[in-house]
Amino acid sequence: MKDIIGKLNTHDKDVHIWGAGYSGLILGYYLKKQGYKVHLYEISNKIGGKIGTNKTFAGPAETGANAFYMNEDALELFNELKLSPVPASKKLKKLLLIDGKVRRPFHPSILSKLMFNLHKRPPLITDGLTVGDFFDPLMGKENVEKYVSPLLGGVYATASEKLHFKSVFGHVDETTQYSSYFEFLKKVLNKIKKNEQLKISGSVTFEGGMQTLINTLGENLKQEIKLNYKTPFELKKNTILCTDAQTASRLLSHVKPEISEELKRIHYQPLSTTTVFTKRDIKCLNKAFGILMPFESNLNSIGIINNKAIFPANHENINSYTFISRSLSRKNDFLTDIQYLQSDLSNDDVEHVESKFWENAIPVYDLQRYLSVKKIHQLLRNESGLAIFGNYVGSISLREMLVSAKSFSLKNRLHT
Ligand SMILES: Cc1cc2nc3c(=O)[nH]c(=O)nc-3n(C[C@H](O)[C@H](O)[C@H](O)COP(=O)(O)OP(=O)(O)OC[C@H]3O[C@@H](n4cnc5c(N)ncnc54)[C@H](O)[C@@H]3O)c2cc1C
Repeated sequence: MKDIIGKLNTHDKDVHIWGAGYSGLILGYYLKKQGYKVHLYEISNKIGGKIGTNKTFAGPAETGANAFYMNEDALELFNELKLSPVPASKKLKKLLLIDGKVRRPFHPSILSKLMFNLHKRPPLITDGLTVGDFFDPLMGKENVEKYVSPLLGGVYATASEKLHFKSVFGHVDETTQYSSYFEFLKKVLNKIKKNEQLKISGSVTFEGGMQTLINTLGENLKQEIKLNYKTPFELKKNTILCTDAQTASRLLSHVKPEISEELKRIHYQPLSTTTVFTKRDIKCLNKAFGILMPFESNLNSIGIINNKAIFPANHENINSYTFISRSLSRKNDFLTDIQYLQSDLSNDDVEHVESKFWENAIPVYDLQRYLSVKKIHQLLRNESGLAIFGNYVGSISLREMLVSAKSFSLKNRLHT
């Protein structure tokens, strides 16, 4: 269920999009390409929403998304936009904090447990199944918390016991009963392998950071975007909401109360991003993508991204680490975390800090979100002229949102 909700009236050329974050921009881009006359309304004084790169004297600092995971559609889009993606370094170590120690995710003891249970039949995939329920029989509850929660937490910031299985793994295929965990993992790995065969694969950014992607989309829609747009909401013939779910709920409260109620049920996880530029490097993170922590660890962060190792071209001679935490970070939280990893680093080693707190950072991909989105799909099934998009509809990832936007524009071709 990754589709944008609703459909357009394809006989009407004008389309009114509310919100010029990534979802509004990418959808605006594809609809304009189809010949629609796009009107893009943004309440703030800038485009991009949760994507932005602050240029500081010490180096670039991403305030939200730091990378785009490639696929074929992204390759095609970046060619169209004449954007040259900067690929992430390959073969970086992925680290986890396990029992208070920095480790590779799959060390021998967990691997042998996995091998032993791979033949087991996983649970039936029902609407109520969580990621935790699915993996418990394979590796046990404790190991799910130690390994699976932090690994998926790096994307969803939600524990496996709450994370909705179909929402996270629904793209693998439509199977409702895998014969074994082996069959499931083979399908996941095949999916990853397919993307790795592309000319440019894996994570990418751009010269100037993620802001460059936003600026380029913005340039393409220069005539269509209205910033600081405070005019009260009006449901016009072709209206698309590309805000967060809570805002969409408020906008629709009088005109579509039933949909508004469902949107209100979608919850959000707050997140802080703190980018720290240091004079010395954190040794255990050398040649590592970063490190992920269990939510209940001794550290304040749930993940630390090693920006220089991932994108050396954008961080020449700069040690830059981004600390992600699930609440508003206090001033020295990052220092406590650094010192946990390397006790001889101190405030004197810190050159600059850039912080950003997002109250509604990412939607919680739980059963409630799934049921609400399903219900709204049903409510809009027989209507045209209203559509709903954003990272709570089908996927948080920029790549999957691109796929949804492109496919929506093709399904809603303008009748001229
Ligand atoms: C810390 C963090 C790290 C992330 N890292 C990655 C990553 O590395 N890779 C990845 O693929 N994804 C990542 N994501 C997810 C990705 O960034 C988001 O899913 C995506 O940017 C969300 O875009 P959106 O358009 O749905 O929402 P938003 O970015 O929230 O955009 C909504 C827009 O609507 C506007 N708006 C609000 N109210 C109104 C109104 N009344 N009228 C008009 N406009 C309005 C807002 O000002 C905003 O511009 C990350 C997210 C976060 C928070």
